[in-house]
Amino acid sequence: MIFVTGGSGFIGSNFIREWLNSNRGAIVNLDKLTYASRFAAASNGIHPDKLYFFCGDIADRQTVSGLLNSHYPLAVIHFAAETHVDRSISTPNEFIHTNVLGTFELLEAVKTYWETLPIAKKEAFRFLHVSTDEVFGSLDASAPPSTELSRYAPNNPYAATKAASDHLVRAYFQTYGFPTLTIHSSNAFGPLQFPEKLIPLAITNAVSGKPIPIYGDGTNTRQWIFVEDLCAAIRAVLKEGRIGQTYNVGGANEIENTKVVETICALLDQAKPRLDGLSYHQQIVYVRDRLG
Ligand code: NAD
Repeated sequence: MIFVTGGSGFIGSNFIREWLNSNRGAIVNLDKLTYASRFAAASNGIHPDKLYFFCGDIADRQTVSGLLNSHYPLAVIHFAAETHVDRSISTPNEFIHTNVLGTFELLEAVKTYWETLPIAKKEAFRFLHVSTDEVFGSLDASAPPSTELSRYAPNNPYAATKAASDHLVRAYFQTYGFPTLTIHSSNAFGPLQFPEKLIPLAITNAVSGKPIPIYGDGTNTRQWIFVEDLCAAIRAVLKEGRIGQTYNVGGANEIENTKVVETICALLDQAKPRLDGLSYHQQIVYVRDRLG
C-alpha cells in the first residue's frame, strides 16, 4: 500500500495507472480535485479494488492522519501542488497554501504516523517529494545542466514555493531523521496534461483554430522528459534512493519552444490537415514573455 497526494493530476494519474497495471500494491490517492485534475480519465476502469480515492486537501492534517492510520501505507509520494507558472504570477496565494503550507502539514501528519510504526516498517518507510528543476532558475544557453548541487535560484512564485517545500523536506530529514527522497524533474509531457502547458495547449489550440501562443522570441529552451520515463525514475528512486538525497531527472534533450511548437504543427499538418489546406504554422503568434 502506498499513499499518493495529487494522484489525479498529470504525473500522478500516469503514475497510478502504471503502478496498478503492473500488479504492484494498492494505492490511496488524496487529491483536492482542482481544475488541473484529470480524475475521471485517470481512474477510468483501472483496478477499482486497488485504488482508494479521497477528495481532500493535503493541508488538512486531520484528514491526512485519518487516511494514514486507516490504510497503513509503506510510502508517501507527494505530487500535489499548484503547478502553472502563469497562474503563480497572477495569483500566488494558492501556491503558498498548497506548496508551502500544504507540504508542511503533510510532513507533520506523515512524520507523526511514521513515528508510531513498528521498527522494521519504520526503517522501510519512505516519503518521496516530487519537485522541479525550476528551483534552480534559468541557465545561459552554453551552461551545463543543473546538478543536485546547483544553487537554488527560483525566478517565479511557483518555483519559490517548490523551493520552500524542498527546504522543509530536507529539514525534516536532517532534524528528525524522517526518511525523505526528493526528485527534481525537468518538463514532463504525455497524456492527461491539462491544456494550459505548452505542448497540450499548442495541440488543442491548433485543432480548434485558435492562435498558438509562444512566449518572447521562442528561443527559451526546455529539457523534456516523457511522463512514463519520469514515473519509472520515481519508482527507481523509491526503491533504490538513499534517504535524505535529491535526484535530478531529465530527458537529456534541450529544445527551443519554437522548435517544439513547429514540430507539433508539422505533425498535425500530416495527421489532421486544416480544411483550408494551409499549415498550422499560420496560427503561431509570439506574445510578450511572462514576468520573471
Ligand atoms: P498537475 O497540476 O497536473 O496536478 C496537480 C494535482 O494536485 C491536481 O490533481 C490537483 O487537484 C492536486 N492538488 C492541488 N492542490 C492540492 C491540495 N491542496 N490538496 C490535494 N491535492 C491538491 O501537476 P503535475 O504536472 O502532475 O505535477 C505533479 C508534481 O510534479 C508537482 O509537485 C510539480 O511541481 C512536479 N513537477 C511537474 C513537472 C511537469 O512538467 N508537469 C515537472 C517537474 C516537477
